[in-house]
Amino acid sequence: MNAPRIAIVLPCYNEQEVLPTTARTLLDLLDRFSADGLVAPDSYILCSNDGSRDATRRIIADLHAADPRLKGITLAHNRGQQPALLAGLMTVRDHCDAAITIDADLQDNPEMMREMIELFRRGTDIVYGVRSSRDTDSWFKRVTAQSFYRFQNAMGLQTIYNHADYRLMSRRALDILSQYGESNLYLRGIMPDIGLSTAVVEYARTERTAGESKYPLSKMIALSIDGITSFTAKPMRIIFLVGLCLMVVDIMVALWVLYVHMAHHTVSGWSSLMLSVWFLGSLILMAIGIVGEYIGKIFVEVKHRPRYNIEEKIF
Ligand code: UDP
Ligand code: MG
Repeated sequence: MNAPRIAIVLPCYNEQEVLPTTARTLLDLLDRFSADGLVAPDSYILCSNDGSRDATRRIIADLHAADPRLKGITLAHNRGQQPALLAGLMTVRDHCDAAITIDADLQDNPEMMREMIELFRRGTDIVYGVRSSRDTDSWFKRVTAQSFYRFQNAMGLQTIYNHADYRLMSRRALDILSQYGESNLYLRGIMPDIGLSTAVVEYARTERTAGESKYPLSKMIALSIDGITSFTAKPMRIIFLVGLCLMVVDIMVALWVLYVHMAHHTVSGWSSLMLSVWFLGSLILMAIGIVGEYIGKIFVEVKHRPRYNIEEKIF
């Protein structure tokens, strides 16, 4: 295989503090890689400016003037990291052999790209960057982020543990990604759904070099809910199961109510009220769960995801 043309895609939201350093680091990296014959000399960086309100847009233009290998797109308004990533990936799709996405703050060690590209050259389509430790994250960030992954898995969403959005995707994987029609984007959930050959590289995450996190707890929770509701109807199944359990409890309550009714003088109306409250409660929960299953199906249909992805054709 000839040295592949690599596109590095950076989502940028109000990243004026880090962007100049990040650009320098990544351009140096590309210089070294192309000197080693690892990547094609026309490999480049694409900043996907997510409607920043600071000087990010101007900085991208200045950086492009200084070195045209640094390119950019600007979204008309702030849509969040996932849509910004997708916009970047769809822009580079026809202009690269593989794309690597990485956060603009370079908390994820960019040197790992060497290993990612080597794996790609040996035929891997998706390479996941996985954090081996979170020592540099604050206690709060670590605990919330880890609960985030655990909760998702408990809810039946299959994701790679401790993998965020640092990953390499081959052009073939990008083509398949382009067929996913959903607007509630959760790339980490789509990746395992794409299939193809995958590999993992591990690294230790470092601290943000400058500026502050653009991912407060509220955005993390929103992303998590998006992930779960886009990929699994398990919460609905849980509602149904709770309803079913209540039905069992209902039988015991009914026996107890009847016993009290026979043995003592209860207030008139108490027994019938108790029986109907329990019975109806469990029935309603089960009904909601069943309706939810159908809504889950409709949800899958309207997303128009590809029903299969072809990896190879020998025709
Ligand atoms: N980001 C974005 N749009 C947003 C929020 C964040 O494009 O609405 C980008 C941000 O510029 C960065 C990446 O997403 O490149 C990750 O954000 P950050 O580093 O602040 O998250 P953290 O590392 O704290 O989880
Ligand atoms: Mg960060």
